[in-house]
Amino acid sequence: MNAETNSCFVNSDLTDRILTNLPSFGTLQATILTSKSIHAVFCRRRKSIIRAVAYNQIGPALPQALRLVRCKQAQRRKKQPVTDVEENLRTHPELEDPDISNREIKALPSKASVVQELENTFSYRAKDRRFKTSQLTPVERLRFQKAAYRIWLYSSLYGFEGCVVRRRRTDATFDLFAEDIDAEDIADYTEDCSLKQKKFFYQFPTPEVREIGEVVTFMKDIARQSEEIGLVDDFEASNWYLEDIALFHGPEEVYLTSMGDADWAACDGIYIIFEKHSSNFLANVLSSILTDCGDSITTKVIVDKMVGPDDKCQACARDNVASHDLFNSSNWSSFFDIVNFSELAPLGYLTENMFEMESEPCGFFYLREFAPTMIILEEIFELKTEAYKSWEKDDWMCTDCLTTLVTDHLHVWHLAQKRKHGLEISEDCPDGYRCWEQSDEDHAEEYNHLCGPAGES
Ligand SMILES: [Zn+2]
Ligand SMILES: [Zn+2]
Repeated sequence: MNAETNSCFVNSDLTDRILTNLPSFGTLQATILTSKSIHAVFCRRRKSIIRAVAYNQIGPALPQALRLVRCKQAQRRKKQPVTDVEENLRTHPELEDPDISNREIKALPSKASVVQELENTFSYRAKDRRFKTSQLTPVERLRFQKAAYRIWLYSSLYGFEGCVVRRRRTDATFDLFAEDIDAEDIADYTEDCSLKQKKFFYQFPTPEVREIGEVVTFMKDIARQSEEIGLVDDFEASNWYLEDIALFHGPEEVYLTSMGDADWAACDGIYIIFEKHSSNFLANVLSSILTDCGDSITTKVIVDKMVGPDDKCQACARDNVASHDLFNSSNWSSFFDIVNFSELAPLGYLTENMFEMESEPCGFFYLREFAPTMIILEEIFELKTEAYKSWEKDDWMCTDCLTTLVTDHLHVWHLAQKRKHGLEISEDCPDGYRCWEQSDEDHAEEYNHLCGPAGES
């Protein structure tokens, strides 16, 4: 072997090493365009390099992600009966066919980013509430991601998309979306589907079915919470639950719903006919399979060790507060994700006091709009009244207690802001924020109402 060949050999291996460690398809593309020799190495080892970069970008559940992408692409292929798509999935299980096509490279990252966002939220709720990004260990991460992609695949086959595909391919002998659909037809269809759905889960070992069950519960929880905290408007869909409809559409819609970005306003009508078929979508089938094994849907199968599992609210010590509903200065921003600060009103009749609320530049509404909520909370802790003397920023508090702390101090904070701006403070009204007369402009200007009634702090 001469020196030149030898150096080429070394360079090829080094280049391969560099390329296989790149974090994404985007950086891979940019790197191979930088030189002809790098491009040549890539062409010679394309399959292995692409697979390695795919693992770096998509994560450990790449086989499950690939299976989902392949299913969706097969569903889009015209003239292919749906049953063939399902059969194909059964005969091509995860981990087979490692070659990744260009179309798959294009489709994978968007799915991976949805799963990553969901994992971040899951980690916050089930692992470590101090961080908004995932703190799952590699093993926990693999469990979560595998389950999430499998739920997505299931939703694609048997959820809304599956129904649309079936209708287009006329696999069903009737129109699934017709208003006058025959009850017997829908019953037959439902039975046929539920057999297939059970078969879908039989391919996985029981511990992994349990993991899917926990992720389903998590997805339903975050969809339901988005409704509870007012992120979803105009939701009217007969007696459907939002979390079932979101899951029926798939994990992407669950994520969008949890962010308040899904539009469910127009869903009534379409879903009524699916009531029997899909109510409690996924959870019913999973429960039935786990019951057959003497098991049930449970939580705490994905995370091995949670941070502070026994923490309680240090103000009220209630037992029924979920771990992810506890806040201290490490996660106050998450508190404001579920509590809309602009809807917290100061005490008493202060909102009727236009002088204090609306005058510029120190009216309450004006100050509140421009002060970052995290700074306001910091300042409230500096201004704590006697009743809250023992409350510390590092103490874990439940949503209710922290909300009470904030509302009880909004007028105190407002008064401190006015002083900071050098405004002269009038004499205190004896009734303070409880004064009925403060809607009268003259009275409001003459007296200070940013105080408690005489005798209270
Ligand atoms: Zn509490
Ligand atoms: Zn008054």
